[in-house]
Amino acid sequence: MAHSGKPQRIGAVKQITSHSNPIVKEIKGLIAQRKHRSQSGLFVAEGLKLATDAMAADWGVRYLALGPEARDNPIAQKAAATAKARGALILEVSNAVMSAMTRKDNPQMVVGVYEQKTLSAREIDPRGGTVWVALDRVRDPGNLGTIIRTVDAVGGSGVMLVGDCTDPFAVEAVRATMGSLFHVPLAKMSKDDFKDLAGKWPGTVAATHLKGSVDYRTPDYQEPALLVMGNEQKGLEDDMADACSTLIRIPQTGQADSLNLAVATGIALYEIRRNLLEL
Ligand code: SAM
Repeated sequence: MAHSGKPQRIGAVKQITSHSNPIVKEIKGLIAQRKHRSQSGLFVAEGLKLATDAMAADWGVRYLALGPEARDNPIAQKAAATAKARGALILEVSNAVMSAMTRKDNPQMVVGVYEQKTLSAREIDPRGGTVWVALDRVRDPGNLGTIIRTVDAVGGSGVMLVGDCTDPFAVEAVRATMGSLFHVPLAKMSKDDFKDLAGKWPGTVAATHLKGSVDYRTPDYQEPALLVMGNEQKGLEDDMADACSTLIRIPQTGQADSLNLAVATGIALYEIRRNLLEL
């Protein structure tokens, strides 16, 4: 998406009270459409916590919009000062403009526009890592965000998005990461690149599979581990499963066909890191 109108002075502050301001339209476009996010390489993250996380992670920021309440909030002011020093345009917006940009049910005092950042398969260096999670065609943004958050919680090294996945920079996915998006490396790759990487992976490559014959609690997982998860509807593709050394299964009783993808990922991650995490 083309950036709005005439060039904006970076590292400056601008007041906005009109819904039809081109920057407001640009932000709404980034929230609404993947096409705008891909073309611009930008995305929107709502809330002060995410702004603070982004600043702590030295993340590239284009705009930080502050509602009236943020002007008396020292944490918001600190985030704005950091963003401004990093070249962002600070937008002071009215409540009406802020709620036009965010969810009506949960208005935010801060909305940030940040630069997207993903790795390619070639940029992944497993050495010194703990556990990476590879997701085969993940479709649900809430699942993806929850998985990124859980990888962060267990001290994982990153998440690989294999094939046609949901957009990790969609506002629902970003929201579900609760800020972990700014701390967990994300890589995008084709299935062939994944298979190459899995073939030379130095640690355990374990796929969760409903046909797995190995109880997920039995392998002696070697780090860096690679945990491979299937698509919500179709499960893991056969050739991806063939690229893994172990097919693990989480036992189930009752009538459920399978576990939710994010839940299964969390259970397996905590088992893989069982002896390495302590309170
Ligand atoms: N209908 C799909 C199938 O037949 O595989 C169900 C997919 S399930 C909702 C999504 C993914 O979560 C699976 O591909 C697998 O990676 C993981 N998963 C869910 N329940 C699991 C279990 N009990 N054991 C191992 N993996 C599981």
